[in-house]
Amino acid sequence: MNSYGSSFTLRCLHCDVEYLPEQVSYYCPDCELDGALDLVYDYAQLGDRFLQGVRSSAHFDMWRYASVLPASSEFAPQLRTGGSPLYKFTGKGPVPLFLKDDSRNPSGSLKDRASALAIALAARMGVQTIAAASTGNAAAALACMSAGSSIRCVIFAPSSAAREKLAQIRAFGATVVEVAGGYDEAFAACHAACKEHGWYNRSTGINSYMSEGKKTVAFEICEQMDWCVPDTVFVPVGNGCIVGAVFKGFHELKRMGITDRMPKIIGVQASGSDYLYRAWRAGQWTPASAPTSLASSISVALPRDRMKALRAVTATDGEFIVVSDDEIFEAVLLLARRTGVFAEPGAAAAYAGYLKRASRCNGSAVILITGSGLKDVATLVKSGILDKQKLTGYCEAQG
Ligand SMILES: [Zn+2]
Repeated sequence: MNSYGSSFTLRCLHCDVEYLPEQVSYYCPDCELDGALDLVYDYAQLGDRFLQGVRSSAHFDMWRYASVLPASSEFAPQLRTGGSPLYKFTGKGPVPLFLKDDSRNPSGSLKDRASALAIALAARMGVQTIAAASTGNAAAALACMSAGSSIRCVIFAPSSAAREKLAQIRAFGATVVEVAGGYDEAFAACHAACKEHGWYNRSTGINSYMSEGKKTVAFEICEQMDWCVPDTVFVPVGNGCIVGAVFKGFHELKRMGITDRMPKIIGVQASGSDYLYRAWRAGQWTPASAPTSLASSISVALPRDRMKALRAVTATDGEFIVVSDDEIFEAVLLLARRTGVFAEPGAAAAYAGYLKRASRCNGSAVILITGSGLKDVATLVKSGILDKQKLTGYCEAQG
C-alpha cells in the first residue's frame, strides 16, 4: 500500500506503459493529452478486502469502496456523496427497469463523486487551490465540494457561458475566471494556470483520477442488486468520462471475483453531439463538428474521454445510439410523470435511449440519471415542451 491508502499503478491507454503514482501527475508524459491513464489495482488480492470494507462501513456512500480508490475518506469532504437510490419499476415495459438516481448528490449530479475524490486528493497533497474548466455540473460539483474547506476553487468558464449556469458555481463561493472563446480556450487557460501556479487540475479529460470517483456508481448498482449485474445499462454520453467510469466499475468487480459477468453498456448521445456514435459506426475517429444539442451537459464537439468511452461500449458488446433534442425533452417529462424523478435534459437522454431500444432489451435494464432537472429549468422552458397539450410518445412508437 502506498501513501494514497491503496496500491495501484497507472497504465497509459495509448502506449500501454505503466507508471507509479509518484512518476506522473495527470496523463502519460509521452502521449500527453492522448495518453489517458487507467488506475490498475492488484485485483486478485482485493476481493475480500473490498467486501470487508463494505460490511464495516457505517455509511452507504462512495467511501465504503475506499479499498479500490486512490484516496481514503480521511481527506474527503464532509458532504455525503454517493449512496443514491436505485428504484425498481415494473410497469408495462418489457424488462424490469431500474433508475439509479444520482441527481441526489450534494450539488445535484453524479460529478460530485469525482469532485469529492479530487478534493480528497488535493487535501492529501496539501495543495491550496483546485481548478477546473467547465460551465456545468463538474464546476458546480467542485465548487460545492470545496465550499467550507480551506481549498480555494477556481473555475475557468467561456465568456459565452449562460449566466444562470454560473449562478450555482458562484453561490458556493468559487472564483470564476471568464475566458474569451469557447470551452477549448477555457480548458487551455486552466491547464496553463495550473502549471504556472501549481494548482490541482480537476478538468475532465486531463485528470485521469476522476474516473475513480465516478466508477463507484457501478459498485453501488451491483450492491443494491445483491451483487448481481444488470443485463443492460443506459448512460448519457458527452465527454465520455462517466460511461468510461461505469465500465471500469463493473470490470473491477469482475476482476475481483465479486461478480462473474459484464452488463451491455449503451452510450446515449444527442444527435446534435454525436462524435462517439459516428466513430463507433465508422470504426475510426472522424472529424469533430460544433455541437448543436440544447442538452448542455452532453453537448460537446470532441469528447475528452473518448478512448475510455469507446472501450466501454465495444468491450461489453454494447452500442452507441442517438436521440434528438425533441426526444430528449419529451423523455424529461415522461420520466418525471411516470416515476417522479426530474432529470436534466442531458440525463434524460439515457431514458430517451431506453425508450427507443426497449424492445431489444433482455433481462434487467438500469438507466443512469446523472443530473437534476432543477439545474436546467430554463432550457426546458425554452424548449416549449411544457406548453404541449399532449406528448407524442414517438420515442416508444419507434420501438
Ligand atoms: Zn502513453
